[in-house]
Amino acid sequence: MDFIKHQSLLENQSTPFYVYDLQALGANLNACKQEANKYGYEVHYALKANANNKILSAFVEKGFGADCVSGGEVQAAVQAGFNPQKIVFAGVGKADWEIELGLSNEIACFNVESVQEIEVINGLAQKMGKVAPIALRLNPNVDPKTHSYITTGLEENKFGINPWEYENVIETAKNSKNIKIKGLHFHIGSQITDLGVFKNLCSRVNEIQNYFVDRGFSFEDVNLGGGLGIDYAQPDENPIPDYKAFFKIFDQFLEPLPNQKVHFELGRSLVAYCGNLITKVLYIKEGVKTNFAIVDAGMTELIRPALYNAYHKVENIFAQTEDFEKYDVVGPICESSDTFVKAIELPKTKRGDFIAIRCAGAYGEVMASGYNLRKLPKSIFI
Ligand SMILES: *Cc1c(COP(=O)(O)O)cnc(C)c1O
Repeated sequence: MDFIKHQSLLENQSTPFYVYDLQALGANLNACKQEANKYGYEVHYALKANANNKILSAFVEKGFGADCVSGGEVQAAVQAGFNPQKIVFAGVGKADWEIELGLSNEIACFNVESVQEIEVINGLAQKMGKVAPIALRLNPNVDPKTHSYITTGLEENKFGINPWEYENVIETAKNSKNIKIKGLHFHIGSQITDLGVFKNLCSRVNEIQNYFVDRGFSFEDVNLGGGLGIDYAQPDENPIPDYKAFFKIFDQFLEPLPNQKVHFELGRSLVAYCGNLITKVLYIKEGVKTNFAIVDAGMTELIRPALYNAYHKVENIFAQTEDFEKYDVVGPICESSDTFVKAIELPKTKRGDFIAIRCAGAYGEVMASGYNLRKLPKSIFI
C-alpha cells in the first residue's frame, strides 16, 4: 500500500486502527478466482481470518462460498449474503445450537470431526425432520512444515478423524438415517509456504479416497481446506500469493472421483495483505542493545506475534531521515510477550511517528481483545 498517498487521511484518525485497501483485496480475489476457475474448483472464504462486514461483502460480490467454524460465523455468513448452499461448517466442538442453526439455514455441508459428532448431528436432524449433508474431516497425517500452533493435520492434533476410527465411522454412517455423506474434507494447517506439502496432501487424499471407494462409498465432493501462506517478509514484492502454482499442484496430483467437485477453503492468503495496523509511537526508551519504540497498539489489537511468534514487517511510514537505528517495537500491555518485533532497523524514530504493521488483514482484527480494558480497534477502508 502507498501510505504517503493517504498521509492526511491516516494522520487524521486516532490510533491504533486497521486500514484495509479494498482495491488490493479485489485484485487478490480476482487472481484467486481466475486460477480456480481454470479447473472448476470452488473456493470458500474462511471467515475466521477476517469477518469485517465490508470484507465479507467483497467476497459475496465475487461469488465465493464461506467456510465457518462457529455458529456465529454461520450467522455472519448468512447475514452477509453468502449463498447457504456454498456455506460449509467445520470445527471439533460444534454445540447443539450451532448444528441446529446450520440445519435450519440449510447450509451445504457439516465437516464432521468425530464419530460421536455424526451421531449427534443425526439425532438433531431427525428431530428437525431433516437430512444433514456431511463431509468426513479426516486427518491425513501430513506435516505442513509450519508453526506447531497452526498445524492441524497430524495424528497428534485434535482435528479430524484418524485412520483407526475409519471402520467405526463406516458402521455409524450406515446406521444414521438422517445424514448424507457428501464428501471428504481435509485441512492440514496454515501459513504453508512449501508447496511440496500440498503434493503430499494430494497423494494421501488419493489413498484415503480409494480406501473408502473400495468399501462401497462414493463422494460428490472433496475439500482440500486452506493453508496457503503469504510473504510476510516482502509484502509489496509479493502482494498476491501464487495461486497459479497452488491450484496447478492439485490439478496435477489429485485424482478426483468421476464428476467429483473439488473445494478449497482459503483465509489468510486472500485477506492478509490488504490490511495494516496503524499505530503511533508513544515513547522511545533506551535499552541495553536496542532502543524500545513503545507504540499505542499491542497484543490486544494484533496477537499473532505474542501467540505464535509470528513475524510482521514493521515500517515507520512517513519518516524522512536516512539515519537508521535498531529498535524493539513493543506495545503498552502488561505482558513481556507484547512485542511486535525485536532488533529491527528503522529510520530514527520519535514520539508521534506513524508505524504500520503490515499484512495484518488475516487473524488480526478478529482476534482483538479487551484485555487491560482496552477498546476494540476501529477499521477504515480506502
Ligand atoms: C482456518 C481454517 C481454514 C483457513 O486457513 P488459512 O490458513 O487461513 O487459509 C480453512 N479450513 C478450516 C477448517 C480452517 O479451520
